[in-house]
Amino acid sequence: MASNMKRIFSLPERAHGDGPIKYAWQRTHGNYIATTGSDGTVKIYDRHGDLKGNVTLPGRCTGLGWDQDGDTLAIVCDNSNGIFLWDTNSQRFNQIDSGLKDTMTFLLWSKSGSKLAVGTQKGNLLIYDHKTSRKIPIIGKHTKRITCGAWSAENLLALGSDDKTISISNVDGDTLRQTQLRAEPSDVEFSEMKGDERSSIGENTVSVNIGKKTLFLFNINDPDNPIELAFQQRYGYIVAYKWFGDGYILIGFSQGYFVVISTHMKEIGQECFQARNHKNNLTSIAISSALGKAASCGDNSIKIHDLSDLKEMYAIITLEEERALDSISWSDDGQLLAVTSPRGSMHVYLARLPMLASACQTRIAYLTSLLELTIEDNIAQIGGLHYFYIEDWNFVVEHRHMAGIRKVFPDATGAHLVFIDEKSDGYVYNSADDTVINIPDFSPTVHGVVWENWPLDKGVFVAYDAEKMYTYVYCQTSVHGRQESIDMYSGAPSYRYGGQDWSNDDASGHGSSRVMFVGASKLPFGQVPVLLYNGEITLQTPGGKLTNLLLATHTHVFNENPTELGPNDLKTAIQQCVGLKRFKDAWIYCSILKQVDMWKEVGKAALQSMELDFAIRVYREVGDVGMVSSLQQIKNTEDKNQLCGYIAMFLGEFNLAQDLFLASQYPLAALEMRRDLLHWDSALQLAKALAPEQIPYISREYAQQLEFTGDYMSALSHYEKGVTQQENQRDHDEVCAAGIARMSIRVGDIRRGVSMASKMPSKILKKECAAILESMKQWAEAAQLYEQGQYYDKAASVYIRGKNWGKVGELLNKITSPKIHAQYAKAKEADGRYKEAADAYKMAKEWDNVIRINLDHLQNPEEAVTIVRQTQSVEGAKMVARFFQKLNDYGSAIQFLVMSHCNDEAFQLAQQHRQMEIYADIIGSDATPEDYQSIAVYFDAENNHFLAGKFFLLGGQYSKAMKHFLKCNPEDGQAIELAIETVGRANDDLLTKQLVDFLMGDVDGTPKDAKYLFRLYMALKKYGEAARTAIIIAREEQNAGNYRNAHDVLFSMYQELKQNKIKIPAEMVTNLMILHSYILVKIHVKRGDHLKGARMLIRVANNISKFPSHIVPILTSTVIECHRAGLKNSSFSYAAMLMRPEYRNEIDLKYKRKIEMIVRKPDKTEEEEPLTPCPVCGFQIPETELLCPDCKNNLPYCIITGRHILREDFCVCPSCDFPAVFSEFLKMLEVEETCPMCSERVIKENIQKIQDPHKYIYPESSLVKEGEGQDVQPE
Ligand SMILES: [Zn+2]
Ligand SMILES: [Zn+2]
Repeated sequence: MASNMKRIFSLPERAHGDGPIKYAWQRTHGNYIATTGSDGTVKIYDRHGDLKGNVTLPGRCTGLGWDQDGDTLAIVCDNSNGIFLWDTNSQRFNQIDSGLKDTMTFLLWSKSGSKLAVGTQKGNLLIYDHKTSRKIPIIGKHTKRITCGAWSAENLLALGSDDKTISISNVDGDTLRQTQLRAEPSDVEFSEMKGDERSSIGENTVSVNIGKKTLFLFNINDPDNPIELAFQQRYGYIVAYKWFGDGYILIGFSQGYFVVISTHMKEIGQECFQARNHKNNLTSIAISSALGKAASCGDNSIKIHDLSDLKEMYAIITLEEERALDSISWSDDGQLLAVTSPRGSMHVYLARLPMLASACQTRIAYLTSLLELTIEDNIAQIGGLHYFYIEDWNFVVEHRHMAGIRKVFPDATGAHLVFIDEKSDGYVYNSADDTVINIPDFSPTVHGVVWENWPLDKGVFVAYDAEKMYTYVYCQTSVHGRQESIDMYSGAPSYRYGGQDWSNDDASGHGSSRVMFVGASKLPFGQVPVLLYNGEITLQTPGGKLTNLLLATHTHVFNENPTELGPNDLKTAIQQCVGLKRFKDAWIYCSILKQVDMWKEVGKAALQSMELDFAIRVYREVGDVGMVSSLQQIKNTEDKNQLCGYIAMFLGEFNLAQDLFLASQYPLAALEMRRDLLHWDSALQLAKALAPEQIPYISREYAQQLEFTGDYMSALSHYEKGVTQQENQRDHDEVCAAGIARMSIRVGDIRRGVSMASKMPSKILKKECAAILESMKQWAEAAQLYEQGQYYDKAASVYIRGKNWGKVGELLNKITSPKIHAQYAKAKEADGRYKEAADAYKMAKEWDNVIRINLDHLQNPEEAVTIVRQTQSVEGAKMVARFFQKLNDYGSAIQFLVMSHCNDEAFQLAQQHRQMEIYADIIGSDATPEDYQSIAVYFDAENNHFLAGKFFLLGGQYSKAMKHFLKCNPEDGQAIELAIETVGRANDDLLTKQLVDFLMGDVDGTPKDAKYLFRLYMALKKYGEAARTAIIIAREEQNAGNYRNAHDVLFSMYQELKQNKIKIPAEMVTNLMILHSYILVKIHVKRGDHLKGARMLIRVANNISKFPSHIVPILTSTVIECHRAGLKNSSFSYAAMLMRPEYRNEIDLKYKRKIEMIVRKPDKTEEEEPLTPCPVCGFQIPETELLCPDCKNNLPYCIITGRHILREDFCVCPSCDFPAVFSEFLKMLEVEETCPMCSERVIKENIQKIQDPHKYIYPESSLVKEGEGQDVQPE
């Protein structure tokens, strides 16, 4: 435990000769200490150890003491009956005669008054009054040497003597008591011992150390019942004791013990505290009630306890240069502690830091004596001491304040200081510009101020009173400026802004300094702020210690690890940083917290402090682009008032901004601001003073705002003020004039308003005014203005409201609104003007009304019918139907009833008037089954089997439908077709069997055309049966020699199968190919293309069994055509075939001879058939070859040539989609018009060359119903 007590000075060993020295502190002040010793001198030192007085006595000093006020030091000694007195004020010695004849051994000044008691070797007493110089000698007070004594506060004098008695005398020396003791007394004290009742009864107790063994206490009013306290042997003898506090006694024992006992009656003598302060011995104890401390000395150390908590060792001073100590004593104020050694040295310590202290930067200056300042650096811990004398201080700056200045507290640089005047108001004075700023919320009880010394936190200071510390920030620059500026001369504070008196150009407080109250912190009781460094306040305790405390305004500003803070702590940190203007720190916390509102708070505070760059960073961070750009625009504004004006404006403090702008070099900014804010009233006032030329424009805008808010009277007046009548302001004036027109109408001057609106070219104005008039139910004027503005619909509608039909009629062609036309039409109809009404209804597109009027009034059913047909109007159709019904035109009536969905009515009409065929014809496919049912029943009754069957079929009654169809004429193909459809839809085996039996002829013995059977199978989706039927049909035709029929039957069924995506049976494909080749022969031969004809005939001849009726003629043609085409070998081969006996006689006589010639003289010359590429694999194969020998594919054939198709020269018939060689198809169309396959007309332009014939080369790839086709096997 280090001592913070500073040794101030020392007297060396033997300063007063051999042995220990006696000493005494000047009472009360403690400015001097008097010392004496065996050398017979008395020396008086001041607090710094400077010798202030010195006297050599005739003998050894036997007593010395200061009077109560510290004015006089009295000394007595051996070998002299004089009393030596040193006067503090004159610092001189003088001497009086005691009148006593024996050696003086004791002296003691009274506690009140100026009485000095002096005792002698023989027990005599002198009471000397220093004030009156009166001496009262009392001879024989005791019988032996007087050794000790005490004055009470009531001026009773207790004396102890070697005669083992204690006497109590009054101030005149009269003995009041005398008490016998068991041993020699020492250390007599008056005190107050507490009885049961703690009433104050004065110093009633005398305590005495008896023989250094016991403590003897007796009540002066009851001396016969004393209390004698004995202590443990091991403590050793009683060295000394001291009363303190509320009846406690501290006792020092020779063995080093330090004991506190109580004198309260209940616990008398009990040890409250005991410590062995010193190992070997204890030589002295001391108590300072001013300091609240108790000390003991012994060995070579001093131990100091806190009286409020004795267990706490306050300090230990070890004196390394001493082996033992003799005596310790505090000055009355507790500031100084003196200690002496047995060898005659003395050391004086500063025990208590004086309560007068001040800090400068981090250095604390404090008074170490009344004349000396000690300055130490409390932060740097340099520990260097600097002294300077108060007398050297000079005033550097002089400031005259209207009230007396009571206290001054400069900051570290001295540039600013806080002063408190006699009214207890606080101010900051800036010496640089000689300004004084009032400190807001300044407590009148403030008795001191400390400035922040942390270099980065300029302008913070703390004012304090007994209970609290108030943190303030002094801002060098602030938009707001000072709260209150002081008029130095009148002394009256004046508030400058916020008022309307902006013509006063004094807004100089803005953009300058300001003091802001940040917050208050509690000040621990009795402590005094000394130093402020980074929010940490150093306090001086009543005991003189320094202790540190973090201000409540700074609790969160510094954090080692801000990322670990919770959101609330971060918010507090940001708010504290903002309060203290620590914007960089605020930034860090905001970056962590990431809350826009906190960012904005920081930005706003930065603006208020005019930290523009920082504010820009903040607003950029939160993405407030508008604010960033605004701030960048103004940041280089040089005029400070103007700059502050803009900032105030951004902060929304417009009155302040206006004052600032007006005080700036650019006062028009105030006007601009008001205009931007739409504060027209203010803007107008400003314009009057600053820019009268702007008044018309502001008036206009003000008027527009007033108009918007409905203050038409004022708006009118401002529009009128807006008129400039300047040619170059025409647009502006027109706006004003329009406003005047509108406002005139609004305020009731309709004539003026309408007249103006009429004269002015603006259509919009006319419309606006018309609308206003309309809202005022002024129909005529409103319509007139609408019409003038070419708002014809509006005009017409207002005319209608005014019942001015004539006007409406005039406008009719210009009106687009159907609603208005309809209104007009109704009006006209009511007037019986049907033609006009019909026209107007037509314009309104109200067709039913048009129809109605045409039928009912205009006798124009044609028009009505036309409109019904065009518009498909249901209501209209009904009206027309009724009309025709009246005329007995039931067919038309039925038609329109169906059109109006009145099927029942139509049916009944048809039934009544036998018009059912018409109804049946009209009803179409979207009627209900019930409708069909009714019709079917009707025809059933009429024995019209076909129509009965048809409507039973439509109504889904399939067996009834079939019954009727089978009753139809068997030749009626239409009935059979519908019967097939019935079976297809019904999917009913019984019905199917009925129809098949009918078709097969089982019913009437006449088989029906096979194509019906094919259709039936198709309708039943029995595609295999259908295909087989097709082949059978074709074969019958072929056998009968009807090759063209056979071809067409195969083709049409082929197409049907293809449409249903059914795989075509190979036999059907082959048969069609062969029949088609036969058809082609005729075409080629007719065109004289004998080679192509011959090739086709060769193909037919090779399948001659399929043409049983025409074997010989076909072979004959083959021989002849081959011969003609030069295919001599082929000609010979087929000629040879004809020579067979079964054919020979059937040869046409015309050709018989020729054929016999060919056989008889064989000519086998024949050119090879030309080769063309296979469309699948490209292998060169003969033109008419349809089976590729290389890829083994059956190749599609050209429907024109009969050859295999060519990939590079490909097309299809646009009607039947069969493939062909493109160039050959074109060539054929030069002479023929129809496709040889489908017989449909083909237009040349419809044929297109196909680049990718893939799907025609592989037709199977597009067929899906494989399974359906596979049951067809070639026979
Ligand atoms: Zn091939
Ligand atoms: Zn075709």
